Amino acid sequence: MARLTTLSRSVRDKVVLITGAGSGMGRATAHLFADEGAHVAVTDLVAARVEAVVGEIVAAGATARGWVLDVAKPSEVKRVVDEVATGFGGIDILINNAGIALPTPAVASDEEFEAGWGRTIDVNLSAHIRMVRAALPHLRAGGDGRVVNIASTEGIVATAGLPAYTATKHGVIGLTKSLAVELGRSGITVNCVCPGPILTDMTSGIPTEARDEYARRRVALRRYGTPEEVAHMTLSLALPAASFTNGAVLVVDGGMWIRHT
Ligand code: NAD
Repeated sequence: MARLTTLSRSVRDKVVLITGAGSGMGRATAHLFADEGAHVAVTDLVAARVEAVVGEIVAAGATARGWVLDVAKPSEVKRVVDEVATGFGGIDILINNAGIALPTPAVASDEEFEAGWGRTIDVNLSAHIRMVRAALPHLRAGGDGRVVNIASTEGIVATAGLPAYTATKHGVIGLTKSLAVELGRSGITVNCVCPGPILTDMTSGIPTEARDEYARRRVALRRYGTPEEVAHMTLSLALPAASFTNGAVLVVDGGMWIRHT
């Protein structure tokens, strides 16, 4: 049948680099892009996780290669981005997903506060711009590069005891808007996903009863989301057809933050 529209909803043969792809939403995103025929660069701090996710994708008959990458180390960021581009012949899509949630209450000891604050800024915020800067020549080359930053509903509202996490996620939203404005002229779109409560390693330490109670009281859909539900939004923002979506902040939270009572 002849098509009636022109824009593609396929990422087949696109090269996607995902940070923190060894677990949770990063892993689900790697799986989804692989299912859709993309060539996936799986990067993560933890080597065993990289190996496992690459193994899962390759066993399913799709294409992936792995790199151990601490996004908080600028020299590693440059090296890995260049190796991915050389290995796959370019980079079309960058997903800045790696993130940590360290407690940094204002009343913490100086030692605890300084350690948590610095590391959180490095991983959750500075790394995003460093990844973009390193990938820029490659994203530019195709004329339709895509960047998707994973922020959080903590970028819109706040939870007590997490000032570093909340500040960095607000920062990721600001960074997304700034880069969207600056890079638009190169045909690169920069968008941001704000997941709400999602079942991953990051939330697995919360007791089940506390999670259930929170979901019942706060989330319109009355449950936590799955990593795959977020991955689908991320993929949507990376499609060739998303060519006029730029600087957007998309919330995937089951109707959590808009809920008044
Ligand atoms: P997760 O802990 O399951 O996965 C995070 C991955 O990032 C891990 O594999 C970890 O090894 C990796 N990582 C940590 N530090 C890194 C570093 N310095 N360099 C490279 N990789 C590193 O967590 P998740 O829930 O899948 O989180 C993914 C993203 O989603 C994060 O940015 C997080 O802040 C955000 N988020 C999570 C939730 C949630 O409820 N789980 C909600 C909103 C936003």
